[in-house]
Amino acid sequence: MASRFPPPSYSPDGEHARVPTFECDVCGKKVEGEPAGRGLYVWTRGDEARYEEPPLCARCANAIGLAALAQWELEEDDGE
Ligand SMILES: [Zn+2]
Repeated sequence: MASRFPPPSYSPDGEHARVPTFECDVCGKKVEGEPAGRGLYVWTRGDEARYEEPPLCARCANAIGLAALAQWELEEDDGE
């Protein structure tokens, strides 16, 4: 049954297949593909807390992930 279907990289416009890009929030590099991970920023102003999850490249995600893991153990927060 799997006989005819266009290859994954085929695009009707005849251009290169669209690869999503993003800018790493830490090193500012433009990376192709999906973010390897997301950092977690927490801003606090008085009683107000704001969370941001910027896209990260593999390198930074790994570095921050390790740091975040250490933090998760310190302050456990059951959000969702
Ligand atoms: Zn990076």
